[in-house]
Amino acid sequence: MEQRRFVIEASEAESMAKQSGLTVLQLLPTLVKEARSLARSPISNYYVGAVGLGSSGRIFFGANLEFPGLPLHQSVHAEQFLITNLSLNAEPGLNYLAVSAAPCGHCRQFFQEIRNAPDIQILITDDSNSNNCGGVAENGDANKYESLSHFLPHRFGPDDLLDKNVALALEPHHNHLSFLSDSNSNIPNGINSRVCDDLKYEALEAANKSHAPYSNCPSGVALMDCEGKVYRGSYMESAAYNPSLGPVQAALVAYLVGGSGDGYEKIVAAVLVEKEGAVVRQEYTARLLLQMISPKCEFKVFHCGLKSC
Ligand SMILES: [Zn+2]
Repeated sequence: MEQRRFVIEASEAESMAKQSGLTVLQLLPTLVKEARSLARSPISNYYVGAVGLGSSGRIFFGANLEFPGLPLHQSVHAEQFLITNLSLNAEPGLNYLAVSAAPCGHCRQFFQEIRNAPDIQILITDDSNSNNCGGVAENGDANKYESLSHFLPHRFGPDDLLDKNVALALEPHHNHLSFLSDSNSNIPNGINSRVCDDLKYEALEAANKSHAPYSNCPSGVALMDCEGKVYRGSYMESAAYNPSLGPVQAALVAYLVGGSGDGYEKIVAAVLVEKEGAVVRQEYTARLLLQMISPKCEFKVFHCGLKSC
């Protein structure tokens, strides 16, 4: 089976463009078909692919994920997948995006969590409904990109709610969370205690990277597959609340980006870390989502608090 890829290094992107006689910006729409093939959308059968050019010159892929048996708002949109992929790979910014269908309002809003959001240049290849995935803009030129401010004028975003010095979604930050003293209790049956301990710290690290400046309730998830590989996901909030992306969804993006082309049932253990007494809690939703996609997955929650200085 062909190896699925989610990131293309800058040097490879340059040489791929050169070989095709294109610029990197012209290359992006030609990759949308490949991004679409990564979608897992068994409810809609509508496959969305997003290809982003980061400020480092790397190219990132995103695709939509849907979860049968759960409410639709648990879905991950291709653009949310892409932003999570950027975050997982410590990419500092997103400059260009080629996407197979017009970004929905939800995604236009979610992009606002990136510092330069109004300037992100977007090209819609409009091939979402074609069976051949050909794409009308495969040889698109740079002039076809339009700024996100064109698609979403009069935006509501972080500037409306946060001080300018608060770190946004792709900017490095640390939430200074640590475990509360009783967090070692109640290790569940089925998860080896050492494994659980490892996952717990991975999930804490994810919570410390979580973008939750609106609720101040950061959280993180660590998943482990049956081969012992661990995948971290950080909760990411939106200024408009509803487009926020849960920590399990973020970890599932990591699971797919991390090379697992297999089903979610290979996820055997999961740990969520969130703040004690948080007003926004992930526990019940996370449990539901994990039960649905991987019924045998052991799930454990640990609570944390702000480190005392
Ligand atoms: Zn969307």
